Amino acid sequence: MRDLLLLCPVNAKAMKSDEFDPDTAELAIRIINGMAILNDEICIRCGACSKTCPIESLKTMELELATA
Ligand code: SF4
Repeated sequence: MRDLLLLCPVNAKAMKSDEFDPDTAELAIRIINGMAILNDEICIRCGACSKTCPIESLKTMELELATA
């Protein structure tokens, strides 16, 4: 699971910081109770996690927002 977390460029940058604290760091993806949870606000949608997910449960997609 740590490999998946480090593969994320957002996580890798945060985890290389000397001040890295796993409890408070702004991570794009975390594993909580065995599930990958993405932080939509800082994920850059590179797709690296979905390509690596061993059970293919992560998918990235673009959504078109409807305009009224
Ligand atoms: S899609 Fe988001 S969570 Fe997944 S590896 Fe890229 S930045 Fe990280």
